[in-house]
Amino acid sequence: MESAIRLRGLHKSFGDTIAVADLDLDIEPGEFFSMLGPSGSGKTTVLRIIAGFEQPTRGTVSLFGTDVTSLPPFTRPVNTVFQDYALFPHLSVIANVEYGLRVAGVGRKERRAQAEEALGAVRLAGLEDRRPHELSGGQRQRVALARAIVLRPQALLLDEPLGALDLKLREQMQVELKELQRSLGITFVFVTHDQDEALTLSDRVAVFDAGEVVQLGTPREVYDHPRNRFIASFVGSSTLLEPDVAAALGLARTPMAVRPERVTLAESGPGVPGTIAEVIYTGPEHRIVVDLDGLDARITALEPNIGAHHRRERGDRVMVTIEPAAAAPLEPEAA
Ligand code: ADP
Ligand code: MG
Repeated sequence: MESAIRLRGLHKSFGDTIAVADLDLDIEPGEFFSMLGPSGSGKTTVLRIIAGFEQPTRGTVSLFGTDVTSLPPFTRPVNTVFQDYALFPHLSVIANVEYGLRVAGVGRKERRAQAEEALGAVRLAGLEDRRPHELSGGQRQRVALARAIVLRPQALLLDEPLGALDLKLREQMQVELKELQRSLGITFVFVTHDQDEALTLSDRVAVFDAGEVVQLGTPREVYDHPRNRFIASFVGSSTLLEPDVAAALGLARTPMAVRPERVTLAESGPGVPGTIAEVIYTGPEHRIVVDLDGLDARITALEPNIGAHHRRERGDRVMVTIEPAAAAPLEPEAA
């Protein structure tokens, strides 16, 4: 199958700063693909190069089988939604959505019909005549989405589109984005620094660090098998086990990452003994930190807050076990 987006040897430097380092990437048609990484890891630069707003220092961009590296943005079959929406403040909602069609020379009646349809798709029907300042943040973001999809791009590029919204609204918009992507059936490339968001929405996730993709896989692969310390701690939370500690817990003698929900505590039985140092109540669960006897190591366990559950306390003695399949061996760090 022909890739929707194919990057080969893509490199971008700004003076001494390497923003993107020799990147190869294939994104498939219809895929919800996320680029996840901390601030400054090169995500926006990659997106801007795909859109054509930025020229790579070297390397190529192909979209749906065509090399577009030297083509201007408006000829590329993609559209971008930015975090700050970039709406025209003096234009009504419908005029904002129609804008690109007007530039493209689409006739008045057809323009209106397509803009209405796009507004319907983002649940904004009825707000056609409002100005951007008369809308909530979430509604403004929907206008930006409508404005992007009305041009019927083959891929939509979204740069932290939910970053300005509060948590509740963000969670609601996440569901709607996913539904929109399914109904349009086009490729979404979604940039975020929020690991929850990337795991929730994506078919595949590329984890970025310093201009490189350090891991690429499904959310489950990235979460269950983080390749190195950076990924293990950036995506979700985990306890990093030194080789001796891993061995004491019956695992291979190598650096390991283990997710707190895969650590089992018991009052007795097999395992490594330890003392509870902290119990943190988060509502849905208890986060329990255990100091392991004689190992100079602590490990975090998660226990669901189910009513009948034994209530653990600081100072309690427990036995700690980890299923071998639940621990991810980490690659040795580059020196
Ligand atoms: P992210 O979106 O992951 O936060 P960016 O792609 O914006 O990362 O930035 C990657 C690196 O490139 C950063 O070090 C940033 O400072 C630098 N950078 C990005 N754009 C420019 C620019 N126009 N001029 C100079 N440096 C830039
Ligand atoms: Mg960015």
